[in-house]
Amino acid sequence: MSEDQLREQILKLKEALHVSIVAHFYQKDEVFFMADYVGDSLQLAQWAAEDKNPYLLFCGVGFMGQSVKILAPNKRVFMPKIACCAMARMIDVGYFDQNIEVLKKAGIKEEDILPVTYINSSAEVKARVGMMGGMVCTSSNAKKIITQAKASNKKILFVPDRCLGQNIAKEMGLTSCIVGDGSDPKEADIICYNGFCSVHQLFDVDDIAFYRAKYPDILIVTHPECKPEVCDQSDFVGSTSQIIAYVKNLPLNQKVAIGTEYNMVKRLRKENTYVLSSTKPECPTMNETTLVDLYNTLLSIQEERFENEITISEETRKWAFLALNRMFEL
Ligand code: SF4
Repeated sequence: MSEDQLREQILKLKEALHVSIVAHFYQKDEVFFMADYVGDSLQLAQWAAEDKNPYLLFCGVGFMGQSVKILAPNKRVFMPKIACCAMARMIDVGYFDQNIEVLKKAGIKEEDILPVTYINSSAEVKARVGMMGGMVCTSSNAKKIITQAKASNKKILFVPDRCLGQNIAKEMGLTSCIVGDGSDPKEADIICYNGFCSVHQLFDVDDIAFYRAKYPDILIVTHPECKPEVCDQSDFVGSTSQIIAYVKNLPLNQKVAIGTEYNMVKRLRKENTYVLSSTKPECPTMNETTLVDLYNTLLSIQEERFENEITISEETRKWAFLALNRMFEL
């Protein structure tokens, strides 16, 4: 089947079966342009949870599909490819509990710890955070959530992204440490789990120096999952949606180098736009989903084989919902 025929078949099947398709900004073009709705992880989860169709194809990574299921348990959510976020995979409940033990050994009581998890974590980790009275945050609302968490006078354990935790701490004038970095966690306002995004780690201060030397008026735009020294030297640091809004408002003759995922940067603006890296910063797992996967998943719904469906136990969902809902309440 040619690509055009494949697209035609996908559209026919999705209409006949009442399926909606959503795609994250980091998906490649062939998938991105088939979606009914595109957005960042939170926008997609909120849109999908309100959508009237009973079936959803979520083109993204696992924790994103799970977030829809947490918010809308009756919706049947399928991932054309079961792809995992490398950062979300760096923590599970076992590692989470090990970190709590490390803090207890350092003299911090469990009841004095308030966990905050970046939305890039599994339903199980979100549930564990919910059980401990903690909440979820995204890169766009992390400052607001940390402000609220700080008001509890507890020690904040931020999981799993050490860079986002460190960057937010700096922006708010707070102190931070990484579990196991040899410093005393009692001295830090925000204690960060030692996880990171392998894609956003690619951007470096040398890349910034390169572009500033080549184009003295260039603006450097980065995501808060980048290293703190990279964010410090940037002209603008923001979440995926904030980067899109910022760049779209720039005059077309303004040169900009962007430090985030490749597919998004290359679609964002053609003129005077550079990827802030000498290597191609593609998210490997986001890039796994193809048109063929979309077609095969729709076929499996039609034939009632229901492959790649996201399921979460009600106990996990209940606690994870608490953590997510605390964020929405703010
Ligand atoms: Fe996860 Fe990084 Fe890929 Fe985003 S870009 S899905 S944080 S590995």
